[in-house]
Amino acid sequence: MSEGDEGAAATPPAPRSGGCLCGAVRFTLRGALSAPVACHCVQCRRQSGHFWASGNVAKADLELHDPEAQLRWYQASAKVRRGFCARCGSFLFWEPLARGWTSVAMGAIDGATGLRLQRHIFVAEQGDYYDLGDGLPQNPR
Ligand SMILES: [Zn+2]
Ligand SMILES: [Zn+2]
Repeated sequence: MSEGDEGAAATPPAPRSGGCLCGAVRFTLRGALSAPVACHCVQCRRQSGHFWASGNVAKADLELHDPEAQLRWYQASAKVRRGFCARCGSFLFWEPLARGWTSVAMGAIDGATGLRLQRHIFVAEQGDYYDLGDGLPQNPR
């Protein structure tokens, strides 16, 4: 596709940008972000303080801007690592090592995302202090 093709059906969404609370870690999403899901697993709840909503982007389309090298990766299991800002603690990324995509925190994205939550996952591990009344599908795992 060349310049001037804007508006064609296959045109990807305009790049989205985002970052952590302190601004040290910034990112640009060069490709499409999947419809977000909310994860209620114990790990996401502990790391975020509640449940965690994220969308997936191809690793090749996630452009990091981290001039002070504040992004840290916590190896949460043999197959998954979790990215956060060492300065402000923002939980930004969830990444399965053997897959070609990264989950990006919806709360880290600048401005309007143009997306809607699609489903809840790991509701078998959700906290006892809230209810889900939005009518979206719920996966136990
Ligand atoms: Zn930060
Ligand atoms: Zn989770």
